[in-house]
Amino acid sequence: MKLTLAELAIATDGVLQGDEKTAVEGVSFDSRTVQPGDLFVALVGENDGHNFIQMALDKGARAVLAEEGHVLPEDAPAVVVPDSLAGLQQLSQYYLNEVGPKVVAITGSNGKTTTKDMVAAILSTKYKTFKTPANFNNEIGLPVTILSMPEDTDVLVLEMGMDRPGQLTALSTLAKPDIAVITMIGEAHLEFFKTRANIAKAKLEITAGLKDGGLFLIPADEPLLTEATNLPANTKNFGPVPADIEESLAETVWTEKGQRFAIPMLGRYNVKNTEAAIMVGQALGLDLKTMASALAHFDLTKNRTERLTAQNGAQLISDVYNANPTATKEVLRALSQDGAANLVLVLGDMLELGEEGPALHAALADAVLATKPKQVDLVGPIMVDSLLPALKKAAPDLNVKGYQADELDRLSADLKDGLKKDDLVFLKASHGIHLEKVVASLTEGW
Ligand code: ATP
Ligand code: MG
Repeated sequence: MKLTLAELAIATDGVLQGDEKTAVEGVSFDSRTVQPGDLFVALVGENDGHNFIQMALDKGARAVLAEEGHVLPEDAPAVVVPDSLAGLQQLSQYYLNEVGPKVVAITGSNGKTTTKDMVAAILSTKYKTFKTPANFNNEIGLPVTILSMPEDTDVLVLEMGMDRPGQLTALSTLAKPDIAVITMIGEAHLEFFKTRANIAKAKLEITAGLKDGGLFLIPADEPLLTEATNLPANTKNFGPVPADIEESLAETVWTEKGQRFAIPMLGRYNVKNTEAAIMVGQALGLDLKTMASALAHFDLTKNRTERLTAQNGAQLISDVYNANPTATKEVLRALSQDGAANLVLVLGDMLELGEEGPALHAALADAVLATKPKQVDLVGPIMVDSLLPALKKAAPDLNVKGYQADELDRLSADLKDGLKKDDLVFLKASHGIHLEKVVASLTEGW
């Protein structure tokens, strides 16, 4: 991207300091990752970005977006606004209008990043496609994503996160999607929202900025969405997932509309994510065959059923980015269908489930036993207090151990002591448990 200070001032309605022809070529709000030519946006959060302006300029930032009432380095090219976050958002809206891509917006309790990656893999066979990097899905990440898109982008695929009412209204109004998707309504954030109906209502805000006649995609099996009132005129359902799915450790395979699909991921929920992605592709003119081949080897985002090899040769499946009861049960079912011998399960707490948490953890016992594991390591207080006793009761001879969340080093050491070359280790937990440290220890720090 390339924007002059003059454009910046117009877009943000800000006050200009310095040469209006100065042009910025990127945007950053973290002085540590500033690239030469960037606009440094001084945001006020836990740290006050205004304290890092000089550091950002030293690293090559070409201009600064700052808030009124702060003293700026005298010769620094800058635009001064009342609120720098609002300024960043206005700037991204200006740039979005300039580039004018089609916009696909994806939200949902789970599966946003996966579906976004699938949609981008499909669309990039035909269009210049840009997608949210990593997980940049909130009121800061979204405008930064928009400002990072190349000027010749045809389609922009945006992940939109939601942890409070009103948030998606703001994100959707900013991005004005041509297509909006809700992947599913889950149990995440029940602690805050109390009921799934409240979660559904907040997710439906993604239609707030949907263009006139824009396509809205929702899962066929979620009455909280399909039966909602005031759905946009062009609302379509995706799914339900076909009954006949072959699951193995390497891939998940099924046929629909005469086309065979094979994705390099575990779990039927990923078939559902694929169904949503396919409908986005169809709406933008892609055929089933092209989509199937794009999905056969697309780039998975790290730690979503990612295949790795431990330094002793053991196979790892790292699914440590996140966990919820539905997805965990489905992944365990895929593992039990494959009948992997020498399976070691490392399962950490599933967080933010509210009062139901302990019961939802204990309820995994049957699914765990169905995988016939040779060893089960449980990590975190809820796992240790709920699933551990449930497993001991159901299978007194099972080799199961518990670890607290601050005992990851001990867990890694125990795993290394016992792990054989032909073992398969499956690891899953909410990010708060940080099982990625155990993955790193097994793959890099043996
Ligand atoms: P976040 O809110 O943290 O950004 P996300 O919505 O982007 O999460 P992903 O990163 O795609 O979700 O997937 C995270 C985990 O959620 C997966 O590892 C899997 O356990 C689970 N998951 C993914 N898709 C679904 C789905 N459709 N239904 C239920 N669970 C899912
Ligand atoms: Mg995500």
